[in-house]
Amino acid sequence: MLRLENVTISQGGFLLRADFEVQQGRKTAVIGPSGAGKSTLLGALGGFLPLGGGKLWWNDVDITDATPGDRPIAMLFQDNNLFPHLSIAKNIGLGIRSDLKLTPEDHLRVEQALKRVGLVGMADRKPGELSGGQQSRAALARVLVQDRPVVLLDEPFAALGPALRHEMLDLVHDLSEEANATLLMVTHDPQDVRRIADDVIFVEGGRAAAPQPAGALLENPPPALQAYLG
Ligand code: ADP
Ligand code: MG
Repeated sequence: MLRLENVTISQGGFLLRADFEVQQGRKTAVIGPSGAGKSTLLGALGGFLPLGGGKLWWNDVDITDATPGDRPIAMLFQDNNLFPHLSIAKNIGLGIRSDLKLTPEDHLRVEQALKRVGLVGMADRKPGELSGGQQSRAALARVLVQDRPVVLLDEPFAALGPALRHEMLDLVHDLSEEANATLLMVTHDPQDVRRIADDVIFVEGGRAAAPQPAGALLENPPPALQAYLG
């Protein structure tokens, strides 16, 4: 279980509050207007932004001040940040060791991850030699090799067309189920929410609300969510 206890995060003049729990294995969509603080929330959970106040718990462990690498969390940023000068295998290997000093077992894990996301034979290519969908698969493979119980994806497939996006969402769904991972995924598309999410965290007005069951929330949205959905 991931617990945000009276958390505040500030960015310049912007302040976001959050106080809730996310149960292990839940797939949660993070939605809300542009600029509401969705990326801010994920960045703080990942350890890339300090908390202004409050505490972050993983089960009974205080991870408020843990470095990103010491958290039970793998994160994929909004622009999937593959390194253009490195091969796909090396880009994925970075998820295991940032100095790329990989053991034979590590190389095997990279191979297995490539296979799982459908990129067999692509190990030696550079990101620029892959399609957009394949690049997304490579970025997911880098998350996969980290083998963390919590996965944060920030608008991972926004650049893909609808058919490819649905395919990638189904892959994320299956990978999350296989690992019993807790997933927090930012998206602006209610269809994505219906396709993948058990719960929804609505970020708006300086607050990230507690997760609510997705179906019921979309059926009967409170006024602020209704306004956002249009
Ligand atoms: P979202 O991901 O929901 O679109 P963000 O989390 O990126 O929103 O941004 C939330 C707010 O924080 C924005 O209103 C923005 O003005 C502010 N903000 C984001 N990044 C920075 C930054 N690097 N410096 C100062 N303010 C920032
Ligand atoms: Mg964002």
